[in-house]
Amino acid sequence: VRRPRSSPQAPDPAEVRPRLLAWYRQRRRDLPWRRTRDPYAIWISEAMLQQTRVETVVGYWERFLARFPTVEALAAAAEDDVLAAWSGLGYYRRARALRAAAQAMVERHAGRFPDELEAARALPGVGPYTAGAVLSIAFDRPAALVDGNVVRVFARWLGCDLEYAAATRWAWARAEELVPRDGGAGEWNQALMELGATVCTPREPRCAECPLQDVCVARAEGRQLELPRAKPRKSRVDVELEALFVARGAEVLLERRPSGGRMADLWQLPTLQLSPEPERASLFPPRYTLASLAADDEPLAVLRHSITHHRIVLRVHRAHPPAEKRIEPLAWIPRTRLGALALGGMARKALRALSSHQ
Ligand code: SF4
Repeated sequence: VRRPRSSPQAPDPAEVRPRLLAWYRQRRRDLPWRRTRDPYAIWISEAMLQQTRVETVVGYWERFLARFPTVEALAAAAEDDVLAAWSGLGYYRRARALRAAAQAMVERHAGRFPDELEAARALPGVGPYTAGAVLSIAFDRPAALVDGNVVRVFARWLGCDLEYAAATRWAWARAEELVPRDGGAGEWNQALMELGATVCTPREPRCAECPLQDVCVARAEGRQLELPRAKPRKSRVDVELEALFVARGAEVLLERRPSGGRMADLWQLPTLQLSPEPERASLFPPRYTLASLAADDEPLAVLRHSITHHRIVLRVHRAHPPAEKRIEPLAWIPRTRLGALALGGMARKALRALSSHQ
């Protein structure tokens, strides 16, 4: 492993900070959560932005805040309602953790997001990034943060070619050194992330527009695309699923996923995993056999969907309503309730594709 080429000393912030901030003030995107200082609203945006694109988050954030406008409202909400508001964003553990953290804030912090790092980190689902983001942006505390954008900007600007995990730890140390201690931490953190999101992008950095271009090690060495070193990727898994579309008047038959593991408690079409051979640990473990659900051979729809490194092909077949009385974990759901139901992203896609079928 080559060591970072930069000196272990942090660059002189007095030199770099004003120009990055000037660039940010001029070029930053006008995002709705940048128009508020409400820690609750900022916290929700940060939770949503992890793993999800900004354009997608905007609508979700507005709807979520309209539905749960305060910490108290989120703490008092039914988990199903929170999951329904999150439906389609993926990584549903985040939604459950938000509700649990809101309950902890009501119990321990009078319904407020705490303005102190240790207390923030003690909340369910609040890691170092989220705590740093809310404390610096909402409270202007000198809290550092590192996300993928910040790792990329630091690694290129300062020429770090450590492996990704080590580069991330290294970036945290740089972030701690550089975060302003005398006000403006939130703006500085956002400027770094904004540069990574809009200029110092993974595949096509626009160095000619970058305020750091004349001090950037990667640019000087033509190594922008090599840094930071790539994250080790999980190899892709092809998954073949069969789902059943069973309608009875104005109702459809849906399956509720188990209360543990991925997409816990979310609703989906009754789904069977054909390959790879389903196991207990698979995304779609075998859970029931309803012999009477004989399905048509010809699929009504064929959909493609990705969940982390799983590449899924889903074939939806029409099937007959089951004769059995007890059909758990399946349930008849009125179509009019589908919009408010906690559906997984793939289920939402499938039901949309099938909306014209009776
Ligand atoms: S000069 Fe290019 S590589 Fe360096 S920080 Fe700016 S955009 Fe990134």
